[in-house]
Amino acid sequence: MKQTGRDITKPLCGMEWGDCFALNGDGRCEALEDTDFRRGTCPFYKPIDQEMMECAASLEQLKEGGREDLVKKYGMEKQKTK
Ligand code: SF4
Repeated sequence: MKQTGRDITKPLCGMEWGDCFALNGDGRCEALEDTDFRRGTCPFYKPIDQEMMECAASLEQLKEGGREDLVKKYGMEKQKTK
């Protein structure tokens, strides 16, 4: 196995946080192709708990607005249980 010298406790994007919604199980970002932030931190970081709360709120808003079609189209019920 090739040694990379990478700290496996940190995501590959280099950010300190390991709770970002966009991280997959391998520590890679699923949202961005380029995660080389030479000047500072990632502006898209969001804790998974916050993301789930915002998704649940969006889901409720769509349902209250009678937009079950959008809930179905984008598979939001499945995301809620992710
Ligand atoms: S959104 Fe930013 S902080 Fe989150 S995993 Fe991607 S690059 Fe890292």
